Amino acid sequence: MFEHMEKYAGDPIFRLNEAFHRDAHPQKVNLTVGLYYDNEGHIPVLSSVKTAEQRRAVEPAPRPYLPMEGLASYRDAVQKLVFGPDYPALRDKRIATIQSVGGTGALKVGADFLHLAYPDSEIWISDPAWDNHHSIFQGAGVRTHTYSYYDPETRSLRFDQMMSELQALPRKSFVLLHACCHNPTGVDPSPEQWLQLIPVLAQRELIAFVDMAYQGFGTGLDEDAFAVRAMADAGLTFVVANSFSKNLSFYGERCGGLSVMCASAEEADGVLGQLKAAVRRNYSSPPAHGGQITSDVLNDADLHAAWLREVAEMRRRIAFVRKEAHGQLKTKLPGYDSSYFVKQHGMFTYTGLSSQQLQILREKHGVYIIESGRISVPGLNTRNIGYFTDAMADVLGA
Ligand code: PMP
Repeated sequence: MFEHMEKYAGDPIFRLNEAFHRDAHPQKVNLTVGLYYDNEGHIPVLSSVKTAEQRRAVEPAPRPYLPMEGLASYRDAVQKLVFGPDYPALRDKRIATIQSVGGTGALKVGADFLHLAYPDSEIWISDPAWDNHHSIFQGAGVRTHTYSYYDPETRSLRFDQMMSELQALPRKSFVLLHACCHNPTGVDPSPEQWLQLIPVLAQRELIAFVDMAYQGFGTGLDEDAFAVRAMADAGLTFVVANSFSKNLSFYGERCGGLSVMCASAEEADGVLGQLKAAVRRNYSSPPAHGGQITSDVLNDADLHAAWLREVAEMRRRIAFVRKEAHGQLKTKLPGYDSSYFVKQHGMFTYTGLSSQQLQILREKHGVYIIESGRISVPGLNTRNIGYFTDAMADVLGA
């Protein structure tokens, strides 16, 4: 009955990750998948999460379904985290927010919602992109296109080109923007560039879909939300997906949020209804355990303070590794410009290594990097960074 169906090739990143685990190389280094590892190479269990879980475990509670939109305390906390605790639109109830199944679930529900609101609109996504952006929007029936973003020559943003392409889009087009720590390049617009870009969104009546999967991993939780808050200040109507996968080290718990900034409380109420309808059609209601723990961490003053310190620590470690890689490569490869390690932000850095160089890194040195040349920086630590920069020097110095 299903013989005619094309075989799913699998996700190339997960495939490479599996190949890494099969490799017997004694000094192998995994820089493939976007997971934050601590300096010991472990995915951390945050102490704020551990305490929240211990408290909940004292008296296990029944597990009814959560409402379609998720826990009210969770949704409030998402709004405060994304827009800032004192943002007037929160008081005015102009933001419709749901608890989502990770950042991916937020993107899917948001894509369904936008397609329902504007069935003829199409979406423009950065080039290069996180591949799933294309898949999710196509799966929701939205045609996808790209806008210029990254310049491999200068290893920086093609800002002028991006601006002129956005200026030429049809009205009511959707534009996918990364709030911070762009995946895969690590290159973000500066605050000044965001302030130039936002009026274009307004003038052209473009609908921004902001993906904020790495809040707190760039410059700070508030700083990383600069674009979102500047769009809110400019009075735009837009959509934001946020994720707790990284900043709560909560990958498998599938916790995120979807917020739609509206013009009025009545509009937000109607939008929330449509988001709930989209949730009902997709998965009915979000996960209770992760939702409860996330809400506890964000709403309890002590746990929240501990969490802020833990996010800062993860951010500091990423910055340290970036600086260290840059410093070591400067010594080992004096002619090579490795400043991109410190200019790019967040989990990812784009090396520009060729397919052949990546193959040598993999086969000779056991250093695994995905085909685009994107490195997941937290795969590096004080024990393997010297080995990694030696391997880079071998490949690039050849
Ligand atoms: N957006 C981007 C840009 C991402 O990199 C990721 C995670 N890899 C997501 C969304 C999805 O986040 P989650 O794992 O919470 O579904």
